[in-house]
Amino acid sequence: MMLEIINLRKKYGKFEALKGISLSVKKGEIYGFLGPNGAGKTTTIKIITGLLLPTSGDVLVGGFSILKEPLKAKALMGIIPDRPFIYEKLTGREFLTFVGSLYGYTEKEITREIDRYLEIFELKEWQNELIESYSHGMKQRLVMVAAFIHHPQIIIVDEPMVGLDPKGARLIKKTFWKLARERGITIFMSTHSLEVAEEMCDRIGIIDHGELIAEGTVDHLRKLAGSSVSERLEDIFLRLTGEAAFIEEWTEKI
Ligand code: ATP
Repeated sequence: MMLEIINLRKKYGKFEALKGISLSVKKGEIYGFLGPNGAGKTTTIKIITGLLLPTSGDVLVGGFSILKEPLKAKALMGIIPDRPFIYEKLTGREFLTFVGSLYGYTEKEITREIDRYLEIFELKEWQNELIESYSHGMKQRLVMVAAFIHHPQIIIVDEPMVGLDPKGARLIKKTFWKLARERGITIFMSTHSLEVAEEMCDRIGIIDHGELIAEGTVDHLRKLAGSSVSERLEDIFLRLTGEAAFIEEWTEKI
């Protein structure tokens, strides 16, 4: 297993945001982490990536515990956060070289990877411009490149498509797909986009109020929710999280 989340709990004061989440993701698998607002997705991702400590439980990345061997675990991860922090006063290329150095690579060692991904993500001609002059989509693509250059075995993404135009979104989807299928890289992504999840993910986990309430392929979730074959993931999702009836009730009142 590339990623193992073991009975993860997180309390913020008295509020229990995660109530014992366990799940595993295999090498080369694309796993979608779905759930309504406030379900605990970002909290889980922050714990996986070592930004937040759990109240109890553990996360193993490539067998390394993020609590006991954080450096080994982090070396295997490429992280794409939902609100990335980038140094706007650097050029795109400087930023990537800097990120590479954090993972222990010299500029020379990482130049080829930087060139390759700048090309793929159509940032090459902007590489020597200051990041502050980049558009939102360009900044997002730069953050993606930064996550790929150190040869990660698993990519952790919080909301990959937010704010991307259709072309940018397609590029990301194709890249993830290729990395997973051709290089056996594992992708763990949280998303609100059910379309993205349905299109891309081998398996989906649905979290609600800090608990994993359902997990499996879209077909499996469809069976769980008792849905017809043609039903979209959106309906299945709303049924599983118990929100379908709520929405019906409200729209009656409108
Ligand atoms: P969204 O889809 O809205 O981004 P999410 O699934 O990522 O939601 P989290 O951000 O993990 O959800 O939040 C889970 C719960 O924990 C929410 O009820 C949130 O209000 C609470 N929470 C998150 N961070 C903190 C914090 N620092 N202090 C207190 N409560 C928090």
